[in-house]
Amino acid sequence: MSEKKRLVIVGGGAAGFFSAINAAQLALGLEVIILEKTHKLLSKVRISGGGRCNVTHQCFDNKLLAANYPRGNKELLSCFHQFNAADTIEWFSQRNIKLKAEPDGRMFPDTDSSETIINCFLEEANKSDITIKTGVALTAYSQTKDGQFILHLSDKTTLHATFLLIASGGHPAASSYSWISNTSNHTILNPTPSLFTFNIPNSPFKGLEGVATEVVLTLPGYNRAEQDSTNHSLGAERSGSVAHVCMGCRMAKSKELSY
Ligand SMILES: Cc1cc2nc3c(=O)[nH]c(=O)nc-3n(C[C@H](O)[C@H](O)[C@H](O)COP(=O)(O)OP(=O)(O)OC[C@H]3O[C@@H](n4cnc5c(N)ncnc54)[C@H](O)[C@@H]3O)c2cc1C
Repeated sequence: MSEKKRLVIVGGGAAGFFSAINAAQLALGLEVIILEKTHKLLSKVRISGGGRCNVTHQCFDNKLLAANYPRGNKELLSCFHQFNAADTIEWFSQRNIKLKAEPDGRMFPDTDSSETIINCFLEEANKSDITIKTGVALTAYSQTKDGQFILHLSDKTTLHATFLLIASGGHPAASSYSWISNTSNHTILNPTPSLFTFNIPNSPFKGLEGVATEVVLTLPGYNRAEQDSTNHSLGAERSGSVAHVCMGCRMAKSKELSY
């Protein structure tokens, strides 16, 4: 392995790109590699916010912002002390991307297109000489006595790294993370769903892309309708012939409905 220190980032999504760009730009001389198991980069960013990408929220009180994430507010609060909504706006502004706020506080690029964010990430990665390998998954890893990582990849090759950052996104089952728990001391907690997509062919929601409104949700089997008065949103996206409907429902207030 060369003398140059190498950071390998697992996952070519928003978290992977954002980490890669900042690492490369803040730690000059660090070699940065992103590994993405599919052939698509930033695919969730493309569909996020109804295709407009809700980048951040116009809330500059870290505690208040964190309180909107009931299952991780403590962890997020410490992150927000490092980097918060104001820093996000500034980060994009330094890269000539203006974020605008809607009346409910959600902030989108002023182009109203998630492509703006995708292009920014791709351009910054290119400028910073970040190597991107697609179609390659990390399947297992180990560490040598001196702390170097040996990464085993799906193409049967190995890669050495000084630092390893896992930004592999959310998955529905703990078994999806077995490649981490099988080869390290980390334990994986059972994942819980939060934001998800419905796949509805011939959806009646076609044409409602990006619409946000308060919603009342009635679940069969439960004897009451839960209304989240502050932040329910309904956005619909259509990619190709498949309609995705996303309900950003914060259900944590109700024990019966949290799962
Ligand atoms: C419909 C919808 C709308 C959304 N809208 C918004 C929004 O407007 N604003 C917002 O902030 N958030 C939104 N979100 C949530 C947001 O998309 C996600 O929180 C965010 O994209 C997660 O980014 P990530 O990088 O953590 O994970 P991901 O985008 O899931 O990226 C992880 C990547 O890692 C890859 N990977 C996994 N395992 C391996 C492996 N072993 N080796 C190599 N690669 C691997 C995966 O293929 C994937 O590409 C939305 C989500 C959905 C579903």
